[in-house]
Amino acid sequence: MRKTKKYCYGFFVFSSIIINILFTINLYLGGGGNGGECALSWSEKAAAEAEAVAAISCSGHGRAYLDGSVDSEGRHVCECYACYVGNDCSQLSPGCAADATSGDPIFLEPFWMQHATNSAIVISGWHRMSYRYGDDPYMSTELEKYIRKMHSIVGNAITEDRYIVFGVGSTQLLSAAVYALSSQNSSSPSNVVASIPFYSIYKTQTEFFNSENFQFGGDTNAWQLNNSTNSMDVVEFVTSPNNPDGELKKSVLGGKTIYDHAYYWPHFTPIPAPSDHDLMLFTLSKLTGHAGARFGWAVIKDKDVYEKMLTYIVLADLGISKDTQLRVLKLLKVAVEDEGKPFFEFAYNKMKDRWDTLTSIFSKSTRFSLQQRHPLHCNFFNETKLSSPAYAWVKCEREEDCGTVLEAANILGRVGSVFSDNDRYVRLSLIKSQDDFELLVQRLTELVSLENGSVETM
Ligand code: PMP
Repeated sequence: MRKTKKYCYGFFVFSSIIINILFTINLYLGGGGNGGECALSWSEKAAAEAEAVAAISCSGHGRAYLDGSVDSEGRHVCECYACYVGNDCSQLSPGCAADATSGDPIFLEPFWMQHATNSAIVISGWHRMSYRYGDDPYMSTELEKYIRKMHSIVGNAITEDRYIVFGVGSTQLLSAAVYALSSQNSSSPSNVVASIPFYSIYKTQTEFFNSENFQFGGDTNAWQLNNSTNSMDVVEFVTSPNNPDGELKKSVLGGKTIYDHAYYWPHFTPIPAPSDHDLMLFTLSKLTGHAGARFGWAVIKDKDVYEKMLTYIVLADLGISKDTQLRVLKLLKVAVEDEGKPFFEFAYNKMKDRWDTLTSIFSKSTRFSLQQRHPLHCNFFNETKLSSPAYAWVKCEREEDCGTVLEAANILGRVGSVFSDNDRYVRLSLIKSQDDFELLVQRLTELVSLENGSVETM
């Protein structure tokens, strides 16, 4: 009897040791460790909510969002894209204008839907509640690493031995850069100039911030003509590729320059060489299409300029949202996969297809023309390619008020004077959703076919 008891006791001790060993192995090498499968707890409900709202189809002509409105029964409501209406966005509004005004980069949405698994993030309720990161108060060093990696893969900017500053979109960095470059102890303000046609925010922002240290000086070439003997302080904006016409631009004055490289990515232009300027600005909006995340960065050579820009960002915002930085990191990790090939091929092919369609329509017209596009060797694709700019810069060859001509054909664009240019030009955005682009194509086809006496529809 005693002997049996002893055996039983020994058996339990032995089993308990085996179970503990198995449990420890499982914890460290199996389900409980990094990368293994483990049962989810608190994230399951959030993941289910995110998937449920993303699964609402809105007929493919709209989206429902977790932070969007809900109906009286608590169901998320579809937000319809332009020209579509109804609870499920299934009805096309007849006679709706093709709105090609804004540079909303929705053309990349299908890529992110195809890469849903890798690009989604889950944020815990206690994620980075502090103002600070551990090692840097304002910027995620991991994100900075991926930004440098992205530039080195694409070959569009030198980032070695340069400082990086994050901003709430590059919009915030434009004014941070003007602040940093304008002379702060001069009795006369620095003149901020840009070459016509230029992105209007350079002027409106400089005037809005109305500083003692800077003022808007107008067109660079005109400024040079009028001030050739004058050594006044100047800050020159160079937008390359340019918004609105997509031209690769260089500095005219060769002094203090802000290179706005919002569109210097392989989907919009061949990349002939890495940009190597003192102050270069980039934005997530035109790289991955996430304009709503509001994230941009500056690549800066000079320590003093870097410190001034950082001071600006700290005084304005105490840095960029940590939630945004987490999301941007996740998106960049996907975009750099396989050396960026899947992402940039998708983005480039989309823009190329749109340009092919557009050039075919305009080739039948003598009344309207498009800007010239130049072939260049692209180091990223290792091929000579034509540029495929974000915007068509349309010229009315006969009429002076091109905006009115297009409006009569139910097409909305941004007129030349918005870019301080002639109203014979209108900028049409080519980076909006597929629905927007298709409607634009339909209206342009109808307009051009009027020239040839027959109305063609698509
Ligand atoms: N620079 C240029 C030339 C732009 O076209 C834009 C956006 N349209 C920006 C800067 C600002 O971009 P964001 O603030 O979205 O980063």
